[in-house]
Amino acid sequence: MNPSFVTCPVCGAQNIINRRLAGYICHFCHFERRASHEAEGGGAVSAGKSFQDIARLFKIKDISEIYLEAGGDSDLLHLPDEYPVKFIPLSHDHRQVPAIWSEMSLPFQENIAEYFSRKYHQLAPGGLLYLSLPVKHRLVKSPTLPGQINFFTSKNIMFLLEQHGFKLHWRRNRFAPVLRIIAGR
Ligand SMILES: [Zn+2]
Repeated sequence: MNPSFVTCPVCGAQNIINRRLAGYICHFCHFERRASHEAEGGGAVSAGKSFQDIARLFKIKDISEIYLEAGGDSDLLHLPDEYPVKFIPLSHDHRQVPAIWSEMSLPFQENIAEYFSRKYHQLAPGGLLYLSLPVKHRLVKSPTLPGQINFFTSKNIMFLLEQHGFKLHWRRNRFAPVLRIIAGR
């Protein structure tokens, strides 16, 4: 059987697909892709209501609206009135928005480059992107989301952000199994 090659969406290295896993681990940058039905499932991360992280956004920039990605039934859409910010569901047509909240969504994206360039074009110049996702560590076992297909290292994410024109503003504890960062366009 001839091996099939695939290009790593993070670093561009050529990798051989492991047919049994229907995926691969990049030999160069350690990004990992699995077919979703192979994902372990269970051990889901509770996204939580990251109120502290919302406060972080305010510290960087005074905003009154945050656009929420793929969060149709999210609790964030129903924040109490006294909260100084409103969450609005993000659609593909939105442009020039001040901030995008992308919680646990990157692990499921088929096309990673397209994801980052879409975010870039949806944000206004100076706009903020909040990202959270589980990341792989050598020492700490990171959680797997049910149906997850992309498994990143935190280095992978820093590289992708830089490659797509984002600047890192803030990041929570670099050794945590869930990466939480705010980047700016
Ligand atoms: Zn790679």
